[in-house]
Amino acid sequence: MNCLFCKITAKEIPAKIVYEDETVLAFEDITPQAPVHILIIPKKHISTVLEIGNDDHALIGYMFQVASRIAREKKVAERGFRLVMNCNHESGQTVFHIHLHLLAGRAMHWPPG
Ligand code: 5GP
Ligand code: ZN
Repeated sequence: MNCLFCKITAKEIPAKIVYEDETVLAFEDITPQAPVHILIIPKKHISTVLEIGNDDHALIGYMFQVASRIAREKKVAERGFRLVMNCNHESGQTVFHIHLHLLAGRAMHWPPG
């Protein structure tokens, strides 16, 4: 499949991996938007949140748990962090394999741009 994040999962394209197990992968964003910017992805290809199915509930919840574990490891849990998943073009989604952005290390604005 011609999917960038499937290729990173298959180790066909390198990435700075910060966590990996059977179901999820976490790696540093190539264009960080904050001092900490990590992407947490399911190894299973899911294009957008609109394609999340009945069998994916545990997987999606687990992605959030992995994100919070990484936030603790990076020592940003107490000061705060943002988890974002964009969906389709107006949100800014550019890679169509779902990914949870973990952003931290600076004050975040709200509403987002
Ligand atoms: P989106 O805009 O779809 O929510 O987020 C896609 C993210 O993937 C962007 O933050 C972008 O910087 C990141 N990205 C795009 N290509 C690569 C790549 O080849 N390697 C890594 N590590 N991140 C990438
Ligand atoms: Zn994929």
